[in-house]
Amino acid sequence: MKARFELVIVGAGFAGLYMLHRARQLGLGACVFEAGSGVGGTWYWNRYPGARCDVESMEYSYQFDEALQQEWRWSERFATQPEILRYANHVADRFDLRKDIRFETRVIAATYDDGRWAVRTDKGDEVSAQFLVMATGCLSSTNRPDIKGIDTFAGPIFHTGEWPHEEPDFTGKRVGVIGTGSSAIQSIPLIAQQARQLVVYQRTANYTVPARNAPLDPEFVARIKADYPAFRARNSLQINAFGSNMPRSSIPARELGPAERRAALEARWEYGGLFFLGAFGDLLLDQAANDEAAEFVREKIRGVVKDREVARLLSPGQIIGCKRLCVDSGYYATFNRPNVRLVDISASGIDEITPQGMRVNGSSHELDALVFATGFDAMTGTLLRIDIRGRGGKTLQDAWRAGPRTYLGLSVAGFPNLFLITGPGSPSVLTNMIVSIEQHVNWIAECIAHLRSRGRGTIEALPSAQEAWVEHVNAVAGRTLYTQCSSWYLGANIPGKSRVFMPLLGFPAYVERCNEVAAKGYEGFQTS
Ligand code: FAD
Ligand code: NAP
Repeated sequence: MKARFELVIVGAGFAGLYMLHRARQLGLGACVFEAGSGVGGTWYWNRYPGARCDVESMEYSYQFDEALQQEWRWSERFATQPEILRYANHVADRFDLRKDIRFETRVIAATYDDGRWAVRTDKGDEVSAQFLVMATGCLSSTNRPDIKGIDTFAGPIFHTGEWPHEEPDFTGKRVGVIGTGSSAIQSIPLIAQQARQLVVYQRTANYTVPARNAPLDPEFVARIKADYPAFRARNSLQINAFGSNMPRSSIPARELGPAERRAALEARWEYGGLFFLGAFGDLLLDQAANDEAAEFVREKIRGVVKDREVARLLSPGQIIGCKRLCVDSGYYATFNRPNVRLVDISASGIDEITPQGMRVNGSSHELDALVFATGFDAMTGTLLRIDIRGRGGKTLQDAWRAGPRTYLGLSVAGFPNLFLITGPGSPSVLTNMIVSIEQHVNWIAECIAHLRSRGRGTIEALPSAQEAWVEHVNAVAGRTLYTQCSSWYLGANIPGKSRVFMPLLGFPAYVERCNEVAAKGYEGFQTS
């Protein structure tokens, strides 16, 4: 295809779908390119057993359309991947979005020249657009570690983030799972029920709290739906843009007695989900507060896992919440099953993959299938895989060589009319991401409307505003415990990636700043 658009959107996950809807409302000619064969992004790709959201269903959904949020019915407290994917498809149909989406088409390059972006795809499309919106996702490029011998393995290799559409059958099989992050922790209990033998290869033990998932109570749903906008507004005031039903405590741990601290942790453990991190106001700020919560979880592990050595190996030592907290259904109890084995690879990793399985710590393990639950090149990986060239031919790879630099996580100096949705430097992955996505899409749509109303064609972040923003993001992170472990938030899971804390903590303050920038005529940007 050769065509001219006002807007090209890359990605048809929740961000791309809503951006297209808003573009249409503005009367912009827009086209979406999507690498997958369907909509839904994360929920299209991550079809592994047990995949579900860990932000409650009543919140993990769009709020832009009252009729949509009233009519959709979630069945469980935490929706499953198939249900979320059905929802994404429903949205695409309801707003007739598919006709402007080109599926199975990957954008490979985008070059800015003289006020327009020239966009190229792997299908040979060459289109031109005034504005380019990257709705490419924060967790959309899988991390496949280059383990010696990987190509020699005789059986199938799966990655949780690129799970086949036809569900693999592990019945009677010996399966190895590499990784113990959220994807592994969700899938391991289910794979263990099917496989003859499951071997879990753990490099770093992770904290996980019970989901306490259950069917949604119709009365609870009715209460929320009676005034959904007010519920959404309360959630937007939370630091992570979710959870107003169980808000973060404002009381620091040191102001509570030992029994009160214990009671706070127990209450959150019983409630289930990510709310555990809100037990104390300073849980992610103060080492002692964090230590107490971490020890509480370790005690719970010892209470569930019968084998003392396995319990010890499953007990994490790092700061809790520093790597993203996981939420599970029966993870620790799975290690009591006779067909499940935990292998500690913290000392020297995996020696090699062989045709028959794996060599680890000098011994051989025979396996029929391998599951890589090894995560993503998060936040920057997908963007940097596209050859994006801004003013003067400067590449994004060059601009971000020392780590991503953005203004508001929305825009990059030197790359006019390019917008990032939930880009590095915005609250993104530290929030309910659908809330962050809607806030970004709304801001971008209003920005484009503003430019058009003033007869302006371009907008670009000023380098000085960008520098100040990068400093602000670092300063906020530096006041927390988030920077204290080797997480993907810091890029530490990818060999050679620069170590920069990429998301910004604090949704309400961020929204205020974005609104202020707009109200001041797009302060920190130059327009022409
Ligand atoms: P994505 O859903 O990642 O969509 C991006 C799309 O862009 C993809 O379909 C991709 O194929 C496409 N794309 C990328 N590059 C190109 C290219 N070059 N050309 C064409 N197309 C391209 N967040 C929460 O808030 N709560 C949760 O409970 C939660 N659970 C999660 C569970 C899993 C397993 C994972 C991986 C993430 C989870 N997230 C969660 C984060 C989740 O990514 C976001 O909530 C949200 O779905 C992101 O939507 P998006 O549209 O921004 O990106
Ligand atoms: P992840 O959190 O990055 O976990 C990857 C796991 O693989 C880690 O245990 C890591 O160990 C291990 N690993 C990576 N490379 C390895 C190697 N070379 N050898 C051995 N082990 C290796 O990835 P994820 O589990 O896919 O989750 C990513 C994010 O997606 C989550 O943090 C969350 O934001 C989102 N997600 C959410 C849910 C949900 O509950 N809603 C579910 C899945 C994913 P180290 O820790 O030692 O690096």
